[in-house]
Amino acid sequence: MSATIHAPSQAPPARAQVGPAAAAGASPAPRPARLRDHAVMLVGAGGNIGSHLVPHLARMGLGRIVLCDPDTYGAENLTTQAIGPPAIGQPKAQVQREVVTQLDPEADAVAIGRLVQDVPRGQLRVGVLLACVDNRATRLYLNQTAFRLGVPWVDAAVEPDGLLVRVSVVKPGPSAGCLECAWSDRDYALLEQQHPCQHGSPHAARTNAPAPLGALAAALQAIECRKLLEAQAGEPAQSRQILLAASTHKLYVSHLLRRPECRFDHETWSLERLPAHQLSVAALLDRAARQTGSNSDISLRVEGRPFVRRLVCPACSHHERTLRLAAHVPGGWGPCGKCGTPLTAPGFDMSDRLAASELPPSLLAATVQQLGLHEGDVVSLSGPRGQVHYQIEA
Ligand SMILES: [Zn+2]
Ligand SMILES: [Zn+2]
Repeated sequence: MSATIHAPSQAPPARAQVGPAAAAGASPAPRPARLRDHAVMLVGAGGNIGSHLVPHLARMGLGRIVLCDPDTYGAENLTTQAIGPPAIGQPKAQVQREVVTQLDPEADAVAIGRLVQDVPRGQLRVGVLLACVDNRATRLYLNQTAFRLGVPWVDAAVEPDGLLVRVSVVKPGPSAGCLECAWSDRDYALLEQQHPCQHGSPHAARTNAPAPLGALAAALQAIECRKLLEAQAGEPAQSRQILLAASTHKLYVSHLLRRPECRFDHETWSLERLPAHQLSVAALLDRAARQTGSNSDISLRVEGRPFVRRLVCPACSHHERTLRLAAHVPGGWGPCGKCGTPLTAPGFDMSDRLAASELPPSLLAATVQQLGLHEGDVVSLSGPRGQVHYQIEA
């Protein structure tokens, strides 16, 4: 990494007055103190960094704060996270929603107690995405999502042994660097070994970072978030990475440049909102065909979420053919027709993409909701003349 230590070497220049206010001799407009027309989403809202970040966000006067965390507080969290004993046993997202509500009753605070991968992607279309997660798989998903949606994102991480804080500010764009641009083969190897931080998973990485280190990361992250929302003058256009070594009091700032060998395609999508109430699968394909070419060659996918071809009952082994998008909620397949046990979807009978030519007439006549698409899902259709992306609306 090319590292430079940035320190102010001279007094900041006097603020210049520009625009009509300056021309009229009026004093410059005050900086907006409130950010009511902005929304942010915090992924990993209840953890070592996230629980310290929530109060900062709540004090910004934001319009909407979405808090995503699938986990529940345990007694071990008392020493590393910004919580008190009443939080133990409570869902993290709910506890942090309460923090926002107490500090800013006007903000629309939303708690989502699920993995972010299970949230319809369109719900992540906010002003700034903030990540305080403890695993690479979720970072990878958020990096991809931020580019697809064209949303800036700020990722924070800590390394307790070296007292290191890293905050990456990633601004999607064709020449912008992404988080993966900074990844080495070792990061990808670790991705293979680590499981996503599933609720209750024994594989979830626990950093046990000291509370002040999480708080330091959170403070930096909040400052970067505010800069993005206010689009401050002098805010660099490039993606960048800030590394603070609390052990040696050194600050390193490097630009995240796009590396040609990066494994990610860096594509940002132009999303069309599609009112889909009672819309049939055939009508969806017809609509896309007008933009992408003949509809027999069209294929359909929801990135990051497969289509399930078979459901199995874990109790009686009864199985049913199906063709549906993987459910948002685990266990959302309904009961077994024979014994009533909740059905499961075996991983080997799934596909990332459906070809229009393989869809039976019954499915073409079904609604997009019956295919498993719900409000907020982003569906991509590819044909001979290119791709189109729809965000499903009610
Ligand atoms: Zn990249
Ligand atoms: Zn059964």
